[in-house]
Amino acid sequence: MTTASNDPKELSHIPYSLPTLDQDEIQEVMNVVKSGWITSGPKVAQFEEQFQKWLGKHAISETSATAGLHIVLHALGFKKGDEVITTAMTWPSTVNLIELVGATPVFVDVDPDTLEMDVTQIQQKLSKRTRAVIPVHYAGQPCDLDAIQHIIGRRKIHVVEDAAHALGTTYKGKLIGSFGEVAIFSFHPIKNITTAEGGMIVCGDDEFARRLRLIRFHGVQRNAWQRYAQGGGPQYDVEEPGFKYNMTDLQAALGIHQFNKLEQFNQARTQQALRYRKLLADIPEIAVLKDVPYPATHAWQLFVVKLRLDMLTVGRDEFVKALNEEKVGTGLHFLAVHLLSYYQKKYGYKRGDLPHTEAASDAIFSLPLYPRLKEQEQERVVDTLRRLCQKYRR
Ligand SMILES: *Cc1c(COP(=O)(O)O)cnc(C)c1O
Repeated sequence: MTTASNDPKELSHIPYSLPTLDQDEIQEVMNVVKSGWITSGPKVAQFEEQFQKWLGKHAISETSATAGLHIVLHALGFKKGDEVITTAMTWPSTVNLIELVGATPVFVDVDPDTLEMDVTQIQQKLSKRTRAVIPVHYAGQPCDLDAIQHIIGRRKIHVVEDAAHALGTTYKGKLIGSFGEVAIFSFHPIKNITTAEGGMIVCGDDEFARRLRLIRFHGVQRNAWQRYAQGGGPQYDVEEPGFKYNMTDLQAALGIHQFNKLEQFNQARTQQALRYRKLLADIPEIAVLKDVPYPATHAWQLFVVKLRLDMLTVGRDEFVKALNEEKVGTGLHFLAVHLLSYYQKKYGYKRGDLPHTEAASDAIFSLPLYPRLKEQEQERVVDTLRRLCQKYRR
């Protein structure tokens, strides 16, 4: 690899992420366009059915995981002053939605080795007003859900899993989404499978699922397709006010083919992740995350690395800028949410409140990881990292 030119102008850009879309997705989208029915219809029904069969739960699709979180938290009906315990090492929407439904986010720190939420801190954050816990299955590994249940005990506290990274992940032998109260997956293009934008709520309770479907679509029981297909005429009624978050058949056309490739995609991601671990092993300035200490599999939604900032003369942002100049794309998952302007101002958070989350937030970034990534590209990513670490060695 080092024989190749290091002149960035001659190198092709390695994107941080690329969706894997093939002829079958393209054909299905064309079929939907030609069918004359492009919004929620038979393809959405088929996509939901795939999830229902796979996880043995109700599956309710929507326009994004963020919309899914909104529907679920709205349905749970929080009051002002209700508290929801979560992690600050997440995409802002997890916390934004707690805020938008009128509840108060309460953060626990993360485990510094895995960046999963440190469930042992939940106990001390519980109060009379705690109504829910939102564990985020970070990077593709599951949180310790049994430990969370154990701490909650008999209190009436909901567990809403942010499973945006955990499609195909197992916890103690069971698929995420197949056993908890409610979980939400994401199909944004960087996630393990994509519908361009999209999300899926899975839950076991029949009545709760019925309400989620209502709230997803105006509070109206049957959408246009159901009225059309069942020949029920154009009448409608509103049981309670709802949102307009229904997935379209154009999106589901991608989803039904992507779903069938999930296992193959996750295998490719796993192979690449293990390869990165091997290739990075001799770069002391770069640390990788550890496996969780309980039985679990990893969907490898992200391959996160942590810079040993004590060994380098530059910070993460400058390092990543240099990496991007060498045409290696990166992601940042995530900046500590409690220090983002709104949350810092509203709740007076400061550095030191969540030390492990903050240390990670300053030092991490994510490497390219997707089924189409080639071995030589992975090698170039690591060679570039190695070179930059030498350049910036303290
Ligand atoms: C991507 C992501 C979301 C949001 O998913 P969308 O489908 O883009 O709304 C929520 N939580 C986490 C942890 C994510 O990574």
